[in-house]
Amino acid sequence: MKMIPLRTLVTAELVKDLASRSYFRYGQAIAADEDVKIVEQNTFNIVAHVQHGRGEKRTVELASTPTGFKFKCTCSNRKNLFCQHCVAVGLWMNKL
Ligand SMILES: [Zn+2]
Repeated sequence: MKMIPLRTLVTAELVKDLASRSYFRYGQAIAADEDVKIVEQNTFNIVAHVQHGRGEKRTVELASTPTGFKFKCTCSNRKNLFCQHCVAVGLWMNKL
């Protein structure tokens, strides 16, 4: 199975589809404030720190894998939660 480069996969539309409306808006604000710092990046993975306002610093990992798009954030253990931090990193990638 051919893996899709993360940048091709993570469009603003995908980010909007995965997030709730409130997480999307919150993530937009975080990206607009440029509160995303990329720690590691290659064709298929990105690790970034997100620190917004007085909130804790969170670590987001986004990955394109043979079984599709995977994401996680240290703010929650809930599977399939595309939180505001994931939104911020996804939108930030689209700005770079
Ligand atoms: Zn998070």
